[in-house]
Amino acid sequence: MSESFNLFRLQQLDLNRMKIRRRQREIEKILNADESVQKAQQMLDVTHQELEKATHAYNEIHDQVEERNLKLKYSQAKLFGGQITNPKELRDLEAESAALKSYLSELAEQQFYALEALEKCQNKLAKAEENLAQVKSASATKHSKLMGESRQLEEKLPAINEQRESLRAQISPANYQAYVKLLKSKGGRAVAEVIDSSCNACGVNVPPGDIQRAKSPSEIAYCRTCGRMLYAK
Ligand SMILES: [Zn+2]
Repeated sequence: MSESFNLFRLQQLDLNRMKIRRRQREIEKILNADESVQKAQQMLDVTHQELEKATHAYNEIHDQVEERNLKLKYSQAKLFGGQITNPKELRDLEAESAALKSYLSELAEQQFYALEALEKCQNKLAKAEENLAQVKSASATKHSKLMGESRQLEEKLPAINEQRESLRAQISPANYQAYVKLLKSKGGRAVAEVIDSSCNACGVNVPPGDIQRAKSPSEIAYCRTCGRMLYAK
């Protein structure tokens, strides 16, 4: 087995490993921040606040109605109680009763709209709660698939690591060190295949002498442009 072919296979295993790790990181990110659940939760929180406001507004009107009703009752009792005979006082009481009645009818209208708004908020809240439950359940299903995928990816790693170790044992320590150094400096790609006389990483033409060396069982040729190790079939 040629040294460059072993390095090429090592590179393929490492690319595979990187791909697995990248996907696992992606999955972890998704699991940590499911936007749909966060959005549904936010919607529910906002609706809770709206309901609180609507309840407060309704209660305020309700209290006012109670208060004015009590006043009206009192005023009417005085008016029809027979204890007051002074015409001016009676007229004042009549006027007060009339004003209270008029204000109460205004309040009744306000109360009607406040109740309508309150009911709307209650419906909205019920829907937001339902939506959150649905989104959570969908997210759990999606996540169970993702967690399964992550587990499957993890299970692939020992076999890849084993192959990697046995390949590494066949590569000279100097070449392995050079490979690791290039892997770091060349964005995870240390070995490039020569395809149609070109370096498959940078696309630049490889001179025939270098292609010959890339094919040799022991020598290592480097791309003169990108500096990667070359492998040729
Ligand atoms: Zn190159």
